[in-house]
This record gives sequence, C-alpha cells and structure tokens, in this order.
Amino acid sequence: MGVESAAVEPGWLPATPDWFLDALQRWDASGTHNNRGHAYLVVSEEAAEANLFNRVLAAALLCLEVELKEPCGACKGCRAYRQGAHGDLMILEREEGKRTIGIEQVRSSTRFLQQTALYGERKILLVQEAELMTPAAANSLLKTLEEPSGSSLLLLSTAAAWRLPPTVRSRCQTLRLPKAPPASAALWLAEQSGWPADEVEKALRMTDGNPVSALDKASRDAMYFSGALEESFSASLGNAVTHVGVPEAWSRAEPEMLLERLLPWIETHCRHADSNYLRHEGGSWMLLHHCVAELQNRIKRGATPGSDILAAEVYRLCRSRGHEEFPRVSREFLANLGRLGLGA
Ligand SMILES: [Zn+2]
Repeated sequence: MGVESAAVEPGWLPATPDWFLDALQRWDASGTHNNRGHAYLVVSEEAAEANLFNRVLAAALLCLEVELKEPCGACKGCRAYRQGAHGDLMILEREEGKRTIGIEQVRSSTRFLQQTALYGERKILLVQEAELMTPAAANSLLKTLEEPSGSSLLLLSTAAAWRLPPTVRSRCQTLRLPKAPPASAALWLAEQSGWPADEVEKALRMTDGNPVSALDKASRDAMYFSGALEESFSASLGNAVTHVGVPEAWSRAEPEMLLERLLPWIETHCRHADSNYLRHEGGSWMLLHHCVAELQNRIKRGATPGSDILAAEVYRLCRSRGHEEFPRVSREFLANLGRLGLGA
C-alpha cells in the first residue's frame, strides 16, 4: 500500500471530527454531571471510529479546564492523558494476539472503578469493541452496569451492537455516530495524515469512506484484506478455476473471519444464479453451505482449530463441489470435524 502508517497510540488525539459534534452535544444534553447515566454505548459502522469517539469524549472529560470543548492540552489532566498514563482512565480492549476480551480484564477494570478518582471527580472506563467480550466477561461487566460505583462512567464502543447481550445494551444509553460526510471525511483525513489528495482519496475508497479507519493502519489492512478474501472466493469457487493450492488470504484469515465471509458469499452466489443453473447445481451448493455452517457452529461452541488445517480442509471441500467426488468429500468433511479438534 502506498500510504504511510499513522499510529493511533494511547495519548494520541486528532482534531475532533466535525461529524462527532452532534453526538457530543447529545451526550452533553443527556444530563448534568450529577444526574447523568453511568454507561453509554457508542455505535458506529466502523470500530476504529467508535473507539476514537470514546477517546475524544474521555479526553474532554479529563481536562480540568473545560467541560466538553476541545481539551486544553496543558492542564495536569491533559498532560497525563497525552502520556497515556491518566490515573482515572482505563481502556479495556482486546489484548494483542487475542480474539476476545476476557473476564480477568473485566474484573481488573471493576477494581479500577471502585478506587477513588485521583485528579477530577470521576473514573472513566472505555470498553473498546465491547462485542468482543466473552459471555462471562459481559456478565461480569453487567454487575458493574447494574450497580455502578459512585462517580464512574463507562463508555462502550462497538460496530456490532447486535453481538452484545441485550442485558448489556439495555443498561447503556446509545449514541449513534452518523457516517462522515464525504467532504468532511476528506478534509479531516488530509489534515490528520498530511497525505496528498490522491492518497487521501485512495485510502477513503479502500475503507468505504471512513476516514478514521483510513487513518488507522490496522483497520485499513483489515478492510483491504477482506477485499482480497472476496476476490479469492470468486477465483476459487467460481467457474474459472485455474490455480492450485490454498489462496494466501485463506491461510492468513482467522477461522471465524474466513467462515463469516464465506457463508454469505455462497448465499449471494446462489441468489444471483439463474434457475437452470440452480436446478443442476443448487443441491451441491446447499450441501457445501451446510458443511461450512456446521463447522462454524462447532467453532462458536468453543472449538479452536488451527488456521492452516482449517483453511486446507475447507478449501478442499469447496474445490470438490461440482465434481463427482463431492458427496464423498463432504461426508468425510463432516465426519472429520472430530479429528480436527472440532468434536461436538
Ligand atoms: Zn486540559
């Protein structure tokens, strides 16, 4: 990729995006310091954007000089925030190399909230990508949401609110972020990144017009990667199969992600097929869908297969669809789920 990486680090804070202002005002109007709710859920199309909103709001609240304007940048609160070491702020997020936010992380954040505020009047906990909490972790957080300690504030962010338990959602006030207007998005990204106009345009194209994701290298890579996966499905499962071997994108994908993208791809492929094609091929597509969905169920129930072997097995299954041996391969696939460490 042509664009340079822009680090989104603990104390990093860009100019407040102007499409955040409406949600910030709604937050402000939702109460005063004394009677405001203890928990908010910030929902955006993109995780990076919801995460940033939480940081912007936290930084404004931790500034000792102003209430909900740009942080002054000079007071004790702002300095501590910028050093990534503010004693009244804790950021709960997925640890590197992990797929979920675990119960131990939630427990330590509960202990944090129970301590007395050091600088200002409140302790703030950000739960970034809150849907990544395991059921046990979410349940543990629920206790804090039901009985918040004194002056704590919880800001949860998510781009997948439907994955949060309804009990958690219902105890938060929701702040929904609008999609960034294209002109504001381009201007903000150019200012933050210092990239020339064509790079800004390219990065926005790659991220569906979301400038915060465009600025965040990890998000940009993820979106780029998901495009590569889609292409590999078309190349591997479509009609013109020429290459041999598991596509690189399949081996690099987390198993959940691979299956999460593959199933809708199969559904869309069949929806767009004509009835004559489906009369001949529909049955084998349905069987393929069944096998992949079954594998996904096992993973959802806690099985943890290695990425490599899973990609290889799923690829073999997909490649054999449309061939004589497909019924046998699919039977073996289902029977072998146990051997892959995926027993029911
Ligand atoms: Zn300040």
